[in-house]
Amino acid sequence: MTASQQAQEPVVKVVAIDGPAGTGKSTVAGLLADRVGATMLDTGAMYRAATLAVLRAGVDPSSEQVGTIVDAADIRLDVSGDDAPVVFLDGEDVSTQIRSDEVTAAVSAVSANPEVRRKLVQLQQAHADDEFLVVEGRDIGTVVFPNAALKVFLTATSQARAERRHRQNVESGRPSDLTEVLESVNRRDHLDSTRAVSPLRAADDAIVVDTSDLTLEQVLDRLTELVDERIGA
Ligand code: C5P
Repeated sequence: MTASQQAQEPVVKVVAIDGPAGTGKSTVAGLLADRVGATMLDTGAMYRAATLAVLRAGVDPSSEQVGTIVDAADIRLDVSGDDAPVVFLDGEDVSTQIRSDEVTAAVSAVSANPEVRRKLVQLQQAHADDEFLVVEGRDIGTVVFPNAALKVFLTATSQARAERRHRQNVESGRPSDLTEVLESVNRRDHLDSTRAVSPLRAADDAIVVDTSDLTLEQVLDRLTELVDERIGA
């Protein structure tokens, strides 16, 4: 789609939040959605559910069979509750399982599959009927909702991001090694930004916010200001 075609499409009441792993996207998107009265859509959770389906089928995450398996899987995100969205795979609540190390290690390979992306982008776009959405992911401002009213690209140094993930792991009682977390962050960054289909990049009209030296509260204040300016309170 060209820039002029895009400009002609109606702007949708969507805040697109993209960026690499560990920038605090999920936390920021969830809290921002609460503040501004929007529904939060965690698209990473959908790619994680697709990955769980692939792992359960015992298939190599990089193989071509991945497309067929994910196509047959019933992936749903229930965003109707007040808490974090609940993720269903074939009717089962898999919200916890999708955060395992096995899924995290395989998700970039599965999400590089074009058939997987086609299916999940359609599922995400189907939420456009919701009144007001905060959507977080990697390609929201570039592919899923190119006409979002506000596009934010969150960044932070890989060290800052790895330290955050490590802290979250420790706080939730998961075993964690900072060096390994840093390697995993770097590996996912590389895979996500070099893949052929919908690589991770900031949309040309995205506002880049570097969160390395900002507290969560400061990031939220900045984003709330932007929502007020672009979409109205
Ligand atoms: O956000 P989260 O870390 O849960 O995302 C997991 C993975 O899902 C990412 O590393 C990326 O490979 C993939 N993803 C994607 N496109 C999105 C959201 C997530 O490719 N819109």
